Amino acid sequence: MDARDSAFDADCVVVGASFGGLASAHALASAGLKVTVVEKKGDPGGKLHTTGIIVKDAVDQVALLDALPAALVRRIPAVRLYAPNLSHVDLAAPGYYFLATDTPNVIRWLAGLTERAGATLRLGASFTGLERLRSGLELDGLGTTRFLIGADGPRSKVARSAGLGSNERFLAGVEYEFAGVDIPDPDRLHCFIDRRIAPGYIAWVLAGVGAVQAGVARRAGRSEPSGWKPDEAMAAFLGKIAPVMDLRGAKPASVRAGLIPCGGVVRPVATSRVLLVGDAAGMVSPVTAGGIHTALKHGLAAGNAVADFLRGKAEDPSTWFVRSYPKFRAKRLLRWAFDRFQTDFAFNWLLATRPMRRAAGIVYFHHKGVFDDGAVRLPATAIRVRRS
Ligand SMILES: Cc1cc2nc3c(=O)[nH]c(=O)nc-3n(C[C@H](O)[C@H](O)[C@H](O)COP(=O)(O)OP(=O)(O)OC[C@H]3O[C@@H](n4cnc5c(N)ncnc54)[C@H](O)[C@@H]3O)c2cc1C
Repeated sequence: MDARDSAFDADCVVVGASFGGLASAHALASAGLKVTVVEKKGDPGGKLHTTGIIVKDAVDQVALLDALPAALVRRIPAVRLYAPNLSHVDLAAPGYYFLATDTPNVIRWLAGLTERAGATLRLGASFTGLERLRSGLELDGLGTTRFLIGADGPRSKVARSAGLGSNERFLAGVEYEFAGVDIPDPDRLHCFIDRRIAPGYIAWVLAGVGAVQAGVARRAGRSEPSGWKPDEAMAAFLGKIAPVMDLRGAKPASVRAGLIPCGGVVRPVATSRVLLVGDAAGMVSPVTAGGIHTALKHGLAAGNAVADFLRGKAEDPSTWFVRSYPKFRAKRLLRWAFDRFQTDFAFNWLLATRPMRRAAGIVYFHHKGVFDDGAVRLPATAIRVRRS
């Protein structure tokens, strides 16, 4: 037997100190296992690529968020959805809300929580490759481990090194953060449909925590769409919405940009002693492009499943656990339809109709079942149509 097989440096190495990786590591460390989180950035809250909106379902389902400091979040109870001609409907569901976040500090807070649970954070260290041992793995320059979790985002190096599936379909997003500006109706998440500016997705504006965030995302190929210039897309977007909120004169304090997987969970998503979570696994809603909830929820569950395996209580999670990963069936269907049939003309005319409101309810309020009438509860009083 290889000597490296008898004295592992870690029970589990998690690559990526973001939502998925920190949730997994927290579960493993809480179970008493020796876990190391490897993060290539020196500051896990630095250079983020996300708007950072956390949906209510995540708050309800992920106990890790119970202690999320109130100063890091702001409740947004409703959505204002704009058609390409800037007419809009207000959508709300009783008791539902979104949390805008001070995302860099939310990630730093999660990292601190994970460290206090007993995990070791290796910041400024990159995963570059692996070699298999009899009952574990040797990671290039990072030591040996009994298990490896890849939570390293949409272009996962862990997936490639372990021969797992890779994301192939993406949205590309860019967001500006403006300090010291106000927008009308700050208690709405303002979402704009426009096939020219945001084909395959939407553009958005929200009053976040201490800043206004405005962004555009669009369909992309395996890489950034050729010829797509994020700055030009933002200029076109800010020019378009000037009649309802004018942000053209404001200078962005920071820019966030990145790829969002939208093709569903990759295959295979796990192999012996290696498992993917979060964006690395393609665990992002193909319609809303929200991945924080799923990264946290399944990251925690993956950490618990790996902990059970490493303590001899369950089989390798690659054989059973990954069956619990989301299928996104209805949302993949909606994405398919949106990719093919998105026309500005249709949205201008259909925005206020019942089928459109039902679809919006599914997208924004996480109700299941496209055709279940009882599932989408948008009271008539909550829906107002305005022509701007
Ligand atoms: C513009 C934009 C806006 C978005 N807005 C929202 C939103 O409002 N709400 C929502 O729910 N979702 C949103 N998403 C999606 C969401 O950000 C992701 O689904 C979520 O961040 C996934 O978390 P994760 O932990 O899987 O991966 P990531 O957040 O991508 O983190 C991966 C981590 O791995 C590290 N890493 C990568 N490679 C290596 C390596 N080789 N070695 C060591 N470390 C490595 C990275 O530095 C990073 O810290 C948005 C995405 C984009 C691009």
